Amino acid sequence: MDKENKRRKFHTDIECVKEGLANGIAFGGPLSDQEKSDMIEDAAKAYGEFLDALRCDWRNDPNSMETPHRVAKAYVNDLWAGRYEAMSPITSFPSDGYDGIVIERNIPLTSMCSHHHQTIKGVVHIGYVAGEGGQVIGLSKLNRIVELFGRRGAIQEQLTSAIHNAVSKVTEGNRGVIVTVVATHNCVSCRGVKHDGASMVTTKASGVFRENDNLARKEFFDSIKINNGGHQI
Ligand SMILES: [Zn+2]
Repeated sequence: MDKENKRRKFHTDIECVKEGLANGIAFGGPLSDQEKSDMIEDAAKAYGEFLDALRCDWRNDPNSMETPHRVAKAYVNDLWAGRYEAMSPITSFPSDGYDGIVIERNIPLTSMCSHHHQTIKGVVHIGYVAGEGGQVIGLSKLNRIVELFGRRGAIQEQLTSAIHNAVSKVTEGNRGVIVTVVATHNCVSCRGVKHDGASMVTTKASGVFRENDNLARKEFFDSIKINNGGHQI
């Protein structure tokens, strides 16, 4: 299989919602640079019409005349980048005898709620225990998985599952995976109920992190507590 097909196949394997949905890969994605710049042009035109509908004279406002283009560019290159970019295959390495939990805490998360198109900001904590063969992956790959699924439309519950499933896939044969997302939603603080500071915590766990005695789960949450000055997350 050539490199490009391998990338696409790998990407398809970790996607868990229908193509085209706000929290999925775009129709026809991942996109080439040319396809992205055509998309920015189309989206900028449509955003100009959106501002027209809001009776905003953006064409004659020196601060806003480039705004449709800026907004379109921000969606394609940053806010929704995970819908348009391909995830590279992830190589795993022997753990050289390490059979404990691997935890990465405080991975920064920027996302956008699918319901209101307002930002979601927070952190993701990920833990996993490698399988029999002891295969582990490069730590930064966990950050890249968070970026891939975070940089889309999202509801936090599904985002937590998507990250969990992708980590589980790239650490195939693992003994368990746990993902906790702690985030604040701009749609709660700036509109509707307008409550500042409320955060949402979601956890998806499998394997040893779900077992009855839950020692692995306890170790994971203790590790997060250490990081928060002893306070419960
Ligand atoms: Zn929302």
